[in-house]
Amino acid sequence: SPIIMWFRRDLRLSDHPALSAAVEGGRPIIPVFILDHTVQALGAAPKWRLGLGLKAFAQALEQAGSRLILRHGDALTVLRQLVVETGASDVFWTRAYDPDAIARDTKIKTALTDQSVTVKSFAGHLLFEPWTVATKTGQPFRVFTPMWRSVRSRDVPAPNNAVSHLKTPAMWPVSENLEDWHLGAQMRRGASVVTPHVRPGETAAFEALHQFLDRIADYSDHRDRMDLDGTSNLSEYLSLGEIGPRSVWHAVQRAGMTGVQGGEPYLRQLVWREFAYQLMYHTPSLLSSNWKPEWDRFPWNTEADRPEVLAWKQAKTGVPGVDAGLRQMYVTGRMHNRARMIVASYLTKHLMTHWKIGMDWFADCLIDWDPAANAMGWQWVAGSGPDASPFFRIFNPQTQQEKFDPQSDFVRQWIAEGQSNPPATALAYFDAVPKSWNLSPQDPYPQPVVTLAAGRARALAAYEGRKNQ
Ligand code: FAD
Repeated sequence: SPIIMWFRRDLRLSDHPALSAAVEGGRPIIPVFILDHTVQALGAAPKWRLGLGLKAFAQALEQAGSRLILRHGDALTVLRQLVVETGASDVFWTRAYDPDAIARDTKIKTALTDQSVTVKSFAGHLLFEPWTVATKTGQPFRVFTPMWRSVRSRDVPAPNNAVSHLKTPAMWPVSENLEDWHLGAQMRRGASVVTPHVRPGETAAFEALHQFLDRIADYSDHRDRMDLDGTSNLSEYLSLGEIGPRSVWHAVQRAGMTGVQGGEPYLRQLVWREFAYQLMYHTPSLLSSNWKPEWDRFPWNTEADRPEVLAWKQAKTGVPGVDAGLRQMYVTGRMHNRARMIVASYLTKHLMTHWKIGMDWFADCLIDWDPAANAMGWQWVAGSGPDASPFFRIFNPQTQQEKFDPQSDFVRQWIAEGQSNPPATALAYFDAVPKSWNLSPQDPYPQPVVTLAAGRARALAAYEGRKNQ
């Protein structure tokens, strides 16, 4: 009898322990993707990007002699139905770690097991299962550097080879059409603008990895430079599971880059992703509440639609280092890590806005959205998170930009106003954002919504006030 291979955020054929285990048994495999409430809840850009990923993955499965069966509805109901339709006796999947997915998967495992269906979940999304990483006293790590030291010399299992052929079932169950799901429906006008910047799928992911390996030696020098392509650009692939982290880890090792400049800092960054998952797994409230409860007393502004926040969302704060990062996000779907820190610091400190407003906005706009990395990133910048940057260390967006964009190339690339001949990237922002924002490249560049000095002073005063309470 066939095995149902339920794909979620693991849209790949290599480095896939669950799929490899299914293939090893020599039984027919039915690959399935379910549009359930967790997919419905995705923000506009990640949902759109998922649609591109599913299309590419369905093609890859076809090349391996198989198909991707698409169904929508409650995942347990759909799986039960498929078990009846296909006579499958097993359901396999790759584990997910966010609280919604864990609740769903636990319920499904119990219910299907009660029906005598064998359910097996596998590692694959992470280098290390969160429960296998602990401090000397057996506690989850709350500070990054000791976790990095603890895992650095661990053996990471070698990635499974790519599966080249999946045995087909005697009869295929009916599949829905991807186009009918309209996964791009909530995307702002941006879809056509972002499209040229996106190359979905596993093959493209490996190409990005190999291109990066050619320049990895410069990673530590270039990774913070917003004007250079100094990072790997793998986040959207890792987020959707179009490439597995073990593949990336071992490729860096094979390239002989471990222990040397570039390789080591890069692996460290991959472990930040693990750290985020470790935090979210052990403390799911990372996604919704201040990690440090004393921040509940901080006078965050929680109005998502006040003019200052709208100016931030529209990338019109009048601070070029802030606006450039946001505009990069609307045009490419991604934002440089340094720019993420600058825009997040400006929103939470200069504009005293609750980090959740920024986190939710990113969740709607980033094609590499990842629940754990996004929440950790925002809480880290805001100062409320574990191992966070202290609140009083307020980034000055102008000096940050001078340091990490020394010739202002990044700003010129993304901000058209004031340039006689702006580049296409800067103009594309006006096509990517909603028409209702009424923006034009002919408009003058806005005055700062708050001067940097006043914003900083206001934030520090609030911080001092909170401390003295
Ligand atoms: P590289 O520098 O090449 O790093 C390689 C990989 O390591 C990345 O692809 C990513 O998987 C991981 N990584 C690197 N830095 C971090 C980090 N600080 N935290 C967690 N993982 C990391 N990353 C996301 O993938 N999705 C998000 O939604 C997200 N939101 C963020 C929000 C804020 C406010 C901040 C400050 C950071 C956020 N990050 C997020 C982390 C980081 O900015 C991106 O992972 C990185 O910019 C992706 O580019 P890259 O693949 O070229 O990174």
